[in-house]
Amino acid sequence: MPIIVIRYALETEPSYNKSCRAFFVNNYRSFAYPRLQLDSQYLEISFIFAIEIYKLMIDQNQIKVWNKQLQGKTPQEVIAFFLNLFKEKIALSTSMGLEDQILTHMVSEIDREAKFFTLDTGRLFPETYDLIDRTAKKYKITIDVFFPDTYDVEQMVAEKGINLFYDSIENRKLCCHLRKIKPLMRATKNLDAWITGLRRGQAVTRKDLNTIEWDKTNDLVKINPLINWSEKQVWDYVNQHNVPVNPLHKKGFASIGCQPCTRAIEPDEDVRAGRWWWENPETKECGLHKR
Ligand code: SF4
Repeated sequence: MPIIVIRYALETEPSYNKSCRAFFVNNYRSFAYPRLQLDSQYLEISFIFAIEIYKLMIDQNQIKVWNKQLQGKTPQEVIAFFLNLFKEKIALSTSMGLEDQILTHMVSEIDREAKFFTLDTGRLFPETYDLIDRTAKKYKITIDVFFPDTYDVEQMVAEKGINLFYDSIENRKLCCHLRKIKPLMRATKNLDAWITGLRRGQAVTRKDLNTIEWDKTNDLVKINPLINWSEKQVWDYVNQHNVPVNPLHKKGFASIGCQPCTRAIEPDEDVRAGRWWWENPETKECGLHKR
């Protein structure tokens, strides 16, 4: 029976195949690809697979139900719904950007004990560190800070240089992987869901996103309460509610990430034009928000 479920999933939906392989590689590193056959030595592994795929199928259906159920709800209603549903298994992931600051404001108004975390890549602006401190104090919340693995960073810098990201997309992605993705995996290890400040209008890579997504990279429900907001709505909310923001925004920095990979933009430029400005728009994601 498990084998049939696996074969059905693999044959009908290629993305299951990808998730299936990812799951397999993550959990059974000695195998590059699953060998799905009626052989007793694979039966136990296949059974675990089947459970994971079945769970994935259920999760994806549930995502559709939630998106329909919560259509037209305010961000606060969406947040309250999921905080109540996932309890200690949900967290707000904040990069201290405008949208994340709004969400921090909203979440802390609903539940000050909710979980908040941020990633310190080691290359942030001094203004961002200051904002982490100011935000935690203002809202009386704890923001857990996750750092990259020291050995990873030392090895990378020794092999490729301190500013490797300017040399190639491959190098830039490696740096993002070690300084962001791996710490994110640690931060979300015990979670079932995360809240993010993604908006469709932020980038071409985000234009098809929904309020609730299945994050198959991290095996999490991803909640984007501000997905439909415009930039004007963001600034209006910030000003009306006195939300603390990074002073760099007033200096032309629209989207703020690591210091060496962020620049100010001109008024007519795309919001994320200042991030990895030497790359094409289609490649400009750090991997935190893969679909
Ligand atoms: S944004 Fe730049 S410095 Fe930051 S992790 Fe990515 S490549 Fe490295």
